Amino acid sequence: SPTPDPHDFLDLDAGLGDDERAIRDAVRGFARDRLLDRVADWYETGALPARELAKGFGELGLLGMHLEGYGCAGTSAVAYGVACRELEAVDSGLRSFVSVQGSLAMYAIHRWGSEEHRAEWLPRMAAGDALGCFGLTEPDAGSDPGSMRTRAVRDGADWVLNGTKMWITNGTVSDVAVVWAQTDEGIRGFVVPTATPGFTANEVKHKLSLRASLTAELVLDGVRLPESAVFPEVRGLRGPLSCLNEARYGILFGVVGAARACYQAALEYTLAREQFGKPLAGFQLTQRKLADLVVEVNRAGLVALQIGRLKDAGTLHRDQVSFGKMANVRSALEVARTARSMLGANGISLEYPVMRHMANLETVLTYEGTEEMHALSLGQAVTGIPAFR
Ligand code: FAD
Repeated sequence: SPTPDPHDFLDLDAGLGDDERAIRDAVRGFARDRLLDRVADWYETGALPARELAKGFGELGLLGMHLEGYGCAGTSAVAYGVACRELEAVDSGLRSFVSVQGSLAMYAIHRWGSEEHRAEWLPRMAAGDALGCFGLTEPDAGSDPGSMRTRAVRDGADWVLNGTKMWITNGTVSDVAVVWAQTDEGIRGFVVPTATPGFTANEVKHKLSLRASLTAELVLDGVRLPESAVFPEVRGLRGPLSCLNEARYGILFGVVGAARACYQAALEYTLAREQFGKPLAGFQLTQRKLADLVVEVNRAGLVALQIGRLKDAGTLHRDQVSFGKMANVRSALEVARTARSMLGANGISLEYPVMRHMANLETVLTYEGTEEMHALSLGQAVTGIPAFR
């Protein structure tokens, strides 16, 4: 049998179909040609050429790629996961960009929007000509979104929205915001063109994580929308949670890329650098770490692939997504922290990708359901006892 490839030790990619492999190679090529040289700069400056990226991702067919129709590619879930993995190998912020557009904003409109919403927004969003964001979290409502204060009330034939959303990815560059608000009929979702009077987006500054990503506070001050702006059917948290479940799927695949990038950087570095007269990779303590890293990266990859197969089979349960999100983000963070130590002083530099990934993964641990929330979901799934409150 062939010697295992250090970069795909369990030969997981051998199980990919031709389309899935083609998408992997296309995203890797795009990353190499257009992203890798620039990402450290975006991270350092906290600036992102959002329009240019949207156009590039749109041309690659990544935006809403697993959705059907309206200019979306309709790929397998595994193909979408692999694309997330290759993007997050560059930076979690870039994967977040694609996740928010495709799995949160576009998915919400595709799944819950009216035919009019879909026709108006999805083709432009798939092409990268329009950007969307997803406003659920508020300053005082994070893990408990049911306590949100943003309110929509009817006024004649219109809706009027008031409230504040916080930590909204791509909020400052979006053309449309999907905003969840309390109404007399429970929580409902609204399609809000960001040019509507009363809507403002303020950049969240001073982030030490996910810096190659734009984050915003959205202020809705008497935003008046027609009756047609509301998602017609869905009421309650089922609406936003269905979207988060999609995005979490992209995350559990994506972080495998971040972990792999950290492992590869540590492997390359410790093979090249010598101390005490031999490569760092030749010391037993370093090999212990490399062995742990290769195990974590491949175990997370296997979890992602299995969850992807369940999703493609149409049998994936949200508790299995919680399993993957919790397990894989934890693995990736451990890999990043260990790899960071292996690069010594260079490990803290932006000249190497490792600390950037490590800091990003702190955001990934928190958003889309904190590690604790997913632990509580798993706890409930195996015991039948809810312990959330
Ligand atoms: P809290 O809910 O206040 O939690 C703080 C801590 O308490 C956590 O450790 C949590 O696990 C713990 N905790 C809470 N409740 C319990 C409990 N019952 N038992 C035990 N522990 C508990 N949101 C959006 O809507 N759209 C976006 O696009 C978006 N992008 C984001 C981008 C970034 C960079 C970041 C950092 C966040 C983003 N978020 C977004 C928000 C994110 O989803 C929330 O931060 C997350 O849901 C956690 O909410 P919180 O920060 O208010 O923390």
